[in-house]
Amino acid sequence: MADLMEKIVSLCKRRGFVYPNSEIYGGIQGFYDFGPLGVELKNNIKREWWEEMVTKRDDVYGIDGAIVTHPKVWEASGHVEGFTDPLVDCKKCKKRFRADHLVEDLKIEDTGTADEEFIKRLDKNLKGVKCPECGGELGKAKRFNLMVDVGLGVIEGQKRKTYLRGEACQNIYLNYQNVLDSFSPKIPFGIAQIGKAFRNEITPRNFLYRQREFEQWDLQWFVDPKEMEKWYEYWKKERMKWYLSLANQKKKVRLRKHGKDELAHYAKVAYDIEYQTPFGWKEWEGIHWRGDWDLSRHGKYSGKDFTYTDPDAKREFLPWIVETSGGVDRTFLFLLLDAYHEEKDRVVLKLLPKIAPYKVAVFPLLANKPKLVKKAKEIFEDLKTCFLVAWDDRGNIGKRYYAQDEIGTPWCVTVDFQTLEDNTVTIRDRDTTKQKRVKVDKLVDWFQNKLSQ
Ligand code: ATP
Repeated sequence: MADLMEKIVSLCKRRGFVYPNSEIYGGIQGFYDFGPLGVELKNNIKREWWEEMVTKRDDVYGIDGAIVTHPKVWEASGHVEGFTDPLVDCKKCKKRFRADHLVEDLKIEDTGTADEEFIKRLDKNLKGVKCPECGGELGKAKRFNLMVDVGLGVIEGQKRKTYLRGEACQNIYLNYQNVLDSFSPKIPFGIAQIGKAFRNEITPRNFLYRQREFEQWDLQWFVDPKEMEKWYEYWKKERMKWYLSLANQKKKVRLRKHGKDELAHYAKVAYDIEYQTPFGWKEWEGIHWRGDWDLSRHGKYSGKDFTYTDPDAKREFLPWIVETSGGVDRTFLFLLLDAYHEEKDRVVLKLLPKIAPYKVAVFPLLANKPKLVKKAKEIFEDLKTCFLVAWDDRGNIGKRYYAQDEIGTPWCVTVDFQTLEDNTVTIRDRDTTKQKRVKVDKLVDWFQNKLSQ
């Protein structure tokens, strides 16, 4: 389904999931706004992650760090020097492109460091490649830093330059010692965070997949270096299990080991969890072997000592880190691609009920029968105290069902004439379209039970 992406983008706009940012001014590349249904879906997805990584565990602490940090953070992290992508300009139309995206079957992978060898090899590969827009001649590939800078202060010329965070996880390293001091956890333990990150991506594309402002979820798991291997394996399995639990099409989720040439210099090994999108297998989350890179760099740049003393073994070491770093927006997009389903006369989003924006929709069979409307409103108000519920009394029942299917509402409740006699309603299931009669006073339990399955 090559046009699946177009269908998703259109559905997202039409039904209030995602709008292009600043559209009335012609839009701005790489930025999107989440609409009323999008924010619900996104919050539900984030809640699932938080429950899995923080709430259910007693060895992970959640934080919520600021988007702006001291500029030194980004020197220590290596981003100022090395967080770059290769860029190439067309000499004729002046358009800019990610140089590595123009080379088919590029055998070398960019690790984003300031390694000039990569640029040289890339230039060789680019010989004979023309501008994809106008066919013009391309210039030489250059490095382009992805950090988005900001000026703090009010006096022009004296503003202090820092950056919007290029990756959210840096706040976790900054607060490692604070969490340790406040809660005295024993290693291994983790710190988790969901937060915005900003990158001057050269070619934002594929809708939410590559944006300039996006959200990440990170776990940094601090371990005794001797146990690094064991915990790396543990998180690989845990994370894969979790993503599989969210997807309907399990075959489209895979774990891919990075080749040696793809590894960051500090990494012994790296895996990506990937999803098979209409534009290829794409990274969903990275499971990274960060070793002592982060705490030693921040130790060096800040002059602080992050040595940990194991209270049992009485041994001192600098903790090593296993990182699991994934994208909230990519999860949003991949789960929509995964859920989208066309049948004869309807489009259904087969989202898991727990992440669907609305859990239930309530309809009176006929909008012009006050008794039906009154009863349906009572049920609607009652259910609303527990779930996000939609109300619809327009058109005929069939159309209302289809409208809810298209936004993934798992169940529709219809109040009909029998309801007035025996206090039962029909519940119609999104996936099977089967209907069932349930007592009104059992409805909350019925939905709660379904949602916990
Ligand atoms: P890519 O290779 O696709 O650029 P990355 O390896 O640079 O991604 P990380 O720095 O590991 O990504 O970031 C962790 C997660 O953040 C990624 O797995 C992805 O889900 C998400 N992410 C990264 N860049 C973007 C972006 N520009 N737009 C949306 N999500 C992103």
